[in-house]
Amino acid sequence: MATDQAQQSQDCVICAKHRGEGPLKGELVGRRDEFWVYHAPPRDDGLAPLGELIIESDRHAPYLSDLTDAEAAALGQLRSRLAEALRDELGVELVFAAAIGRSVPHFHEFLFPRHPGVPPEIPWHKSDDAGPHGDADTVSDLVRRLRNRLPGMGS
Ligand SMILES: [Zn+2]
Repeated sequence: MATDQAQQSQDCVICAKHRGEGPLKGELVGRRDEFWVYHAPPRDDGLAPLGELIIESDRHAPYLSDLTDAEAAALGQLRSRLAEALRDELGVELVFAAAIGRSVPHFHEFLFPRHPGVPPEIPWHKSDDAGPHGDADTVSDLVRRLRNRLPGMGS
């Protein structure tokens, strides 16, 4: 079992990201309670959907159902505090959360804000496409401001 876990971690792109390796990118907001928080990476045009965050378990836990009770409790608090920070920094009313994991079996959850001015006919899961996108400097500035609102968010 320990060997299986080590092999799965070795082959996993999210575990690689935490080691600073592999294809996945994104600016690190910080770490708290066995979770890593990143801003979404830039897309092909070099711009990232502003305020989209990804929460990833430190441990190679494949899916939402694999988190321990302690991890689930910590995740709930972290998610709500991140949503609060996004709301206050970006002036958004809604922050959506989605744990999907169809392509990478390592727990990760997307938080994405519904920015003001997004037309009501845009479905919730297209909110990130329809909202503002930022360049690297804009994302770094937002990440710094989010960190300031999240005591205990180390990196
Ligand atoms: Zn992993």
